[in-house]
Amino acid sequence: MSGQHHPSLEIIGDYAAGSLPEPVALALAVHMSSCSACRMAVQKLEVIGGVVLDELPPAAMDTEAELDRALSSLDEAKSAESPSEPSDLPHALLRRVPGDLAKLPWRRVARGVAEFAIDNYEAGYRAKLLRIQSGASVPRHTHRGEEYTVVIAGAFYDSDVVYNKGDFAEADPTVRHQPIATDGGVCYCLAVTNAPLKLLGPIGRLIDPLLRRRAEH
Ligand SMILES: [Zn+2]
Repeated sequence: MSGQHHPSLEIIGDYAAGSLPEPVALALAVHMSSCSACRMAVQKLEVIGGVVLDELPPAAMDTEAELDRALSSLDEAKSAESPSEPSDLPHALLRRVPGDLAKLPWRRVARGVAEFAIDNYEAGYRAKLLRIQSGASVPRHTHRGEEYTVVIAGAFYDSDVVYNKGDFAEADPTVRHQPIATDGGVCYCLAVTNAPLKLLGPIGRLIDPLLRRRAEH
C-alpha cells in the first residue's frame, strides 16, 4: 500500500510551477510514481498555470512522450514489490541511478544503515539513497534545514507513524527523530536535504563536527 503520506500543497504547487529545486522535484516524482492523487493534483495545477510539459524542471518529465510512457507503466509500478529489480525503480530515479540497487557502491554510515550519494546540487541540496536493514535505525538526529524522504521499497517507522512504499516525509529543524526500518525487509529511501543533519545523543555529539566538516567539502 502507498500514498498515505503526501507532500505538502506548497511542494506540489512549486513543482507544477516548475520552481521546485531539482532534487526535491526528483523526490516528488518518485512519490508520484505510486500516488495518483498527487499526480492528478499536479496535472490540474499545470493546466491552471498554463505550464507546458517541456518547461517542467529536468527531474520531472522531459517530454510528452515520456509522460505518456510513465503514465502507462504506473499500474505495473504500483503492483511491483521487489526492490532489487531495475524495472521496479521509479522512472525518475532510473535516470540517476543504475537499476540494480544491490550492486551500488553503498557506504556504511551506521549499524545496518548505508548510503549512496546520487548528486550534489545548487544551494546545498544533496540527494542520496538510504539502505536500512530490517529493524535497523538511522542515528537519532535533527536538521539544520529541510529533509524530504520518499520510500522506494520496504517501510520505516518514525515515532508511531509508518511510512510505506511511495510515502513522502518532510522534516525540518523542529523535528528530532530516529527512523527505524520495519521488520518487513530492507528499506530503501531517497533522502533530499539542503543542509547537513545534526546528530543527537552522546555519540552523535562526538561525531557530528566530523560529519559537518566532511559535508562542507
Ligand atoms: Zn501523494
